Amino acid sequence: MRSIQTFQVFPYIPEPLAFLETLSRNLWWSWNQNAIELFRRVNPPLWEASGRNPIVFATLIPQERLEELAVDDSYLAHLDQVRRRFENRVLNQTDGESPWDEGELVAYFSMEFGIHETLPLFAGGLGILAGDHLKAASGMKIPLVGVGLLYREGYFRQFLDNDGWQQEEYPETDLFHLPLTKEKDSQGDDMVIRLTAAGQDIRALVWKVQVGRIPLILLDTNLHDNPPEIRDITARLYSGEQPIRLAQEVLLGIGGMRALEALGIQPTVCHLNEGHCSFVGIERLRQIMARYSIDLETAREVVPRTTVFTTHTPVAAGHDEFPPAMVKPYFEPFTSAFGMTIDQMVALGQPDGAMPESPFSMFILGLRTAQYINGVSELHGQVARHMWSHVWPTRSDDETPITHVTNGVHIPTVLAPEIKLLYERHLGPQWNMGSTIPDNARRIDDIFDEELWQAHEMSRSRLIRMVREMMHRQYGRRNAPVNIMKAVDSVLDQDTLTIAFARRFATYKRAHLLFKDPERLEAIVNSKDRPVQFIFAGKAHPKDNEGKGIIRSLVDFGRRTNLRHRFLFLEDYDMHIARYLVQGADVWLNTPRRPMEACGTSGMKAALNGVLNVSTMDGWWCEAYSPKLGWRIGNGEEYQDHNFQDSVESQALYNIIENEVAPLYYDRPSGGMPTAWLKMMKASMKMAMAGFCSLRMMSEYEERFYLPASHRFGELVADTGAEAKKLGEQHHRYVEKWGQIRLSAPIASARGPFRVNQSFDVTTVVQTGELRPEELNVELYYGKIKHVDRIDDPHIKMMHVRESRSDGAYLYGCTLPCSDSGRYGFTVRVTPNADAWIRYRPELLTWA
Ligand SMILES: *Cc1c(COP(=O)(O)O)cnc(C)c1O
Repeated sequence: MRSIQTFQVFPYIPEPLAFLETLSRNLWWSWNQNAIELFRRVNPPLWEASGRNPIVFATLIPQERLEELAVDDSYLAHLDQVRRRFENRVLNQTDGESPWDEGELVAYFSMEFGIHETLPLFAGGLGILAGDHLKAASGMKIPLVGVGLLYREGYFRQFLDNDGWQQEEYPETDLFHLPLTKEKDSQGDDMVIRLTAAGQDIRALVWKVQVGRIPLILLDTNLHDNPPEIRDITARLYSGEQPIRLAQEVLLGIGGMRALEALGIQPTVCHLNEGHCSFVGIERLRQIMARYSIDLETAREVVPRTTVFTTHTPVAAGHDEFPPAMVKPYFEPFTSAFGMTIDQMVALGQPDGAMPESPFSMFILGLRTAQYINGVSELHGQVARHMWSHVWPTRSDDETPITHVTNGVHIPTVLAPEIKLLYERHLGPQWNMGSTIPDNARRIDDIFDEELWQAHEMSRSRLIRMVREMMHRQYGRRNAPVNIMKAVDSVLDQDTLTIAFARRFATYKRAHLLFKDPERLEAIVNSKDRPVQFIFAGKAHPKDNEGKGIIRSLVDFGRRTNLRHRFLFLEDYDMHIARYLVQGADVWLNTPRRPMEACGTSGMKAALNGVLNVSTMDGWWCEAYSPKLGWRIGNGEEYQDHNFQDSVESQALYNIIENEVAPLYYDRPSGGMPTAWLKMMKASMKMAMAGFCSLRMMSEYEERFYLPASHRFGELVADTGAEAKKLGEQHHRYVEKWGQIRLSAPIASARGPFRVNQSFDVTTVVQTGELRPEELNVELYYGKIKHVDRIDDPHIKMMHVRESRSDGAYLYGCTLPCSDSGRYGFTVRVTPNADAWIRYRPELLTWA
């Protein structure tokens, strides 16, 4: 049977229902409740059986049912409503004014995209965030295109064996039942892009999936022309093997830019979601050089000023590094166009002054090719500045040019249908515009307690139903005895305080914290007056035996006969399970070891649904926490002794559940409703709506990075890069002449002590060499001294030329105001009077 020919039969869709086909081919449906209902109502059990995949669903519906719907007035009216909204939100090109000019475009690169569970291109939070980024861009009509990889086997599916040990499965994704289309070249053939490494061709197909208004371009090396090892590049997400991992990153960065070029797309801004995508900068340099006929030095003034780089990893070891020998074959084809040696190219990913054999860092390459760099929460911004301060050795940590944009979540994707109805009624049709409409958060107070509690109880019932079904399946697969199977059908209790813990089982997330004192935990679960039930879910990395061990001990604990009903582990955590959990639990538990959780987003999803957070002070929770809307475990201390920390924090956790959470939950003064709890639910929903929605996040990226960078792109490349050339010359001049600068220790006009509101004069003598005073900033740098020779929280004041001396040096001066009492220190320094990219070059800074 070696010559099987394949063909596909799709159902015949009657003309009045033709829009269903359009809708099923744009993932926009997946976050629009009305659109989901349009599919679901056709046949709810089949909808679930299809895995909520409209294309599979269509093949399951009997033809008669379609004929029936084609003449069903109520169905056709529903369809028309969805169609009009789709036309307005997705197809409509011309409405309102836009800050974006014709031709401007952001290309957003990411290794993972989590848009819907049917498209398994993600492992966890990073991917979901990328998916939300596209959805938010669609909602805000930002010109953006996503670029990623199409994995044939995605990330693994998890199941547990009889001992509770995690097993992994890699089912192949059925591409024919996904809303994917192959891009075509000018001849009408499948578009294929090429890279070369060590004389070997790597070819990749270019696919597209439409996410509302936003196209997501996906590369796929599973082509007949490729040898097996090349075909496997896009087999799985996060393959453990370094050479494959590197090949994936090369394909994403260099291949991704080539695909855009082949599609005739020239991004004015590139956004790198994590260091995996840093190779974008290399190919972008080549394209810009070729398109504008400019040299490398000039192109290197354009790329960083128009690149955004978001980092998500608060530990140095979490960043990708590769041996230079592994990277070289991919760089070789660029050396002649760049006029660089292979070692010079590799040095782009090595620290300044590193040995040629030191590892090639994707993060350092990112830093060298991006001006706009950010962490993903306020705390993570701080951690990243500290972690990378060695790249700017002469600046203080505070001045490391890394800022933060706190993540947000896409509200329509995560909100329970019942809460959506409440929002529709009390907030109005614009509720899904989240924080961009300030009234949205305020109006949450208008929701009646009864309504909110009822909506929440419905979400909780749905969760419990789903858990029972899943447990039934889990135990059925393990051939459990009949009595156990029966028992499984009645796990969990509708009126019991429900705590969910669902996340990757990485060590730093500390699922084990809850098990420090099993007897105490058991007493909490089985409390007579105030029982508590726990639901766990999450995958451990296939190579993480410690994480798998934690899952097993958790399953073991739940097997104690008196806990069976109230302590459960759900297999195969994904977006589908996550939705039920963040909507239906009462409490969302999070116990990361500070500061390892860069941001965390599942707690935001919970908060939006009125689920209260109990969390250590890490990531986003440092910005969101207030005693009015949740609980914190500890006060954000950082410990040297992790064992000790775990003991202290697990005790704190037990105390919070026992003494605060459970009593409040079970306090039912009026008509069975927990009034005080409901007040916290609303406070929590308001906080998440105002501060942690993806539109707030997207507005920040747009205003602070995308728009300035994109406009700058136009200016820099105009007149065959005239302005970029000028900047290149300026940059070169600074680097060449900087060594000539000398400045003397500052002199104060008086020695003090001073009183508040007094001031004194500071002067310094600067030899500027061939650089002119107007090319330099001479800065007075002062602030309170806490340690012997460190100025904390520094202030900077410009000094001005007071005198040009006969020896060619300049006397600079300014006054230093004493505005607060305390012990102060001051010094002076010189930086370039240039734009941020030049000003922050590590070598262009001289202290007295
Ligand atoms: C939101 C989400 C995450 C990320 O949550 P964290 O708080 O970062 O753990 C991971 N997986 C799924 C399926 C999600 O929906």
